[in-house]
Amino acid sequence: MEVALFEATDGRSMRVHNFGAGPCTLPVSVLEDVRREFLDFEGSGMSLIELSHRSDTYERVHRAAISLARSVAQAPDDFEVLFIQGGATLQFSMVPMNLLNAGAAAGYVVSGSWGKRAYSNAVRHGDAYVAYDGAPHGYTRMPAAHEVEVAPGTRYVHVTTNETIGGIRMVHLPETDVPLVADMSSEFLARPIDWDRHDLVYGGVQKNLGPSGMALVYLRRSAMDDAAEGLGDYLDYRFHASSDSLGNTPAMFSIYVMGKVLARLSDAGGVEGLERASSDKARLVYSAIDESGGFYRSPVEVGDRSHMNVVFRLPSEDLESRFVADAEAAGLVGLKGHRSVGGCRASLYAALEPASVERLVEFMADFRAAVG
Ligand code: PMP
Repeated sequence: MEVALFEATDGRSMRVHNFGAGPCTLPVSVLEDVRREFLDFEGSGMSLIELSHRSDTYERVHRAAISLARSVAQAPDDFEVLFIQGGATLQFSMVPMNLLNAGAAAGYVVSGSWGKRAYSNAVRHGDAYVAYDGAPHGYTRMPAAHEVEVAPGTRYVHVTTNETIGGIRMVHLPETDVPLVADMSSEFLARPIDWDRHDLVYGGVQKNLGPSGMALVYLRRSAMDDAAEGLGDYLDYRFHASSDSLGNTPAMFSIYVMGKVLARLSDAGGVEGLERASSDKARLVYSAIDESGGFYRSPVEVGDRSHMNVVFRLPSEDLESRFVADAEAAGLVGLKGHRSVGGCRASLYAALEPASVERLVEFMADFRAAVG
């Protein structure tokens, strides 16, 4: 199929409007920068990914990325900033392997597909229990703060602050004194983090922050005091913390590009700026849904609507398929819902320009007028 392309902000490249759920659109300025530096990074005569990870040149890039990841997130000094390969999925195992030492238990908020995945991995490594189950509501809402049931002796409560597939966002953290562990993959750095409440915050970087290849992990240093001993090096947070994530060959390309994305986020108002921009973009799409006279329908509870993944349905599956195909022909790609739930989903990650959202909203109105 022919796909309509539009001129990127650099005035030279042709791009689509990319609503993919991750990997996803990245800033054109960053991609241009990478292209410019690719054959000869800072006069080294080679690309960054050809350099030794022990070279001064790479170390500078690496340490700058750590420093930006700390400053943009406003992470306090008593948190380690770690780059660990294996994405958020490895963290589903590393968290319980490290923190569920000596018979401690962990409570899991099963708010959707990803919360469920985190839980189903945790039970293989330790004593994990369900502290809230969204199944009776079809995972269309997050728990109210008091609905999360935390048992005595719980080491941590795991939350997924944004469910990427269900399109719901946790507005209020659970009411508990127990430290939280948060998977923030699909809204990473798009909302302020209440550091006092967390022992660990993690996410795959391939949505708001860069290319795939690793997780960014923030870990409270004291959480390692009673961590499990005897794990293999790569599975042990201490290994990564004691080497500034240079204990083995890191995901250099991911780190390099993420550093550039973080610098741009920092210039654009940091977490607060991204939170504002994201809620503005989301509001446009939800308004288009709400004002469509029922043609488009959001299946999730209004107060818990995600700012990042806007999930919506059309009157029939046939119309949904046609919507996705026609949108793609118009240069709006990645709008198909996750294969496990169907429907449509527009992901509005950090680098998606407001102009792309405006184009989507126009397309939604045109499509409805044509078939409705
Ligand atoms: N958690 C959430 C909320 C996600 O959206 C995803 C990926 N879509 C994952 C975990 C798994 O991430 P990864 O592919 O980096 O392992």
